[in-house]
Amino acid sequence: MKVFLATKNKGKIKDFEKLTEGINLEVVTILDGLDIPDVVEDGETFEENSQKKAKEIADYTNIVTVSDDSGLCVDALDGGPGVYSARFGGENTSDSEKNQKMLEILKDVKKEDRKAHFVSVVSIAFPNGEIHSFRGEIEGEILFEAQGNNGFGYNPIFYSYELGKSFGQASDEERKSVSHRARAFRKLIASGLLEEK
Ligand code: IMP
Repeated sequence: MKVFLATKNKGKIKDFEKLTEGINLEVVTILDGLDIPDVVEDGETFEENSQKKAKEIADYTNIVTVSDDSGLCVDALDGGPGVYSARFGGENTSDSEKNQKMLEILKDVKKEDRKAHFVSVVSIAFPNGEIHSFRGEIEGEILFEAQGNNGFGYNPIFYSYELGKSFGQASDEERKSVSHRARAFRKLIASGLLEEK
């Protein structure tokens, strides 16, 4: 089956390339030269934004489309930045500026109060309007300083309890085994929706 991956985030594209290894799926992304419009992410939940992205891009490309809306939810910030994770600290801040800002905001927060989780909602939209979503989460805590540089986003400051290291220190293979995105995507695979109808 051919699916379009509705994201301009190269880190997510790389994650999905890893997740779809060995699966009978033709994944098309912007890296194949098909440009897509920006989708305004004005929803209040990961589900709303994820479905909006999948639907708008499926309408635009006329190809079955998979999207991911994800973010970091920090307990000490009442679950923030959550759906605003990509815009934390301002629209055009780099990943490393976001991480520095997060470390600065949490600098006086004790280790036991630094719990956080990543959320990913993966949606699949069909050109006929059918749409489904799948949620994955992973628990951890925010470190006191960045560790490792693998992947993207908040990986260097997120310590995964299951891996016993930061996402920035983990290999692609290790993150594939536990990540929020991997968990959501595995639910999509299990649904059978990626199989040829
Ligand atoms: P959005 O889904 O495009 O709204 O962006 C989600 C944002 O959350 C990303 O830009 C990252 O900052 C962060 N994020 C989501 N998933 C991950 C991940 O697996 N590792 C690190 N940061 C992530």
